[in-house]
Amino acid sequence: MNRYYCPYCSSCYQFHKMRSDGVLICGQCGDPLIKKPLINSRQIFSLIAALAFLAPLLLMIVVVINDITNQKLPNNSESLVLSDFY
Ligand SMILES: [Zn+2]
Repeated sequence: MNRYYCPYCSSCYQFHKMRSDGVLICGQCGDPLIKKPLINSRQIFSLIAALAFLAPLLLMIVVVINDITNQKLPNNSESLVLSDFY
């Protein structure tokens, strides 16, 4: 699938040419082609919806990992925090 398109011409009748300086132009109107965005608005919306479901899960994992590290090294983490003040 071509990632470039002309915003002025119908997508059915578009043919693309390479200009002498290497820029892709529309064969019909001669305007430089516009790059299609890799992610469209629908994909962004589904990504946000997926994040809304995954965010609590990720937060829970972070909290659990923090709990484990705090339980393992209670003295070291306290001394590290104290040493930051001096
Ligand atoms: Zn065009």
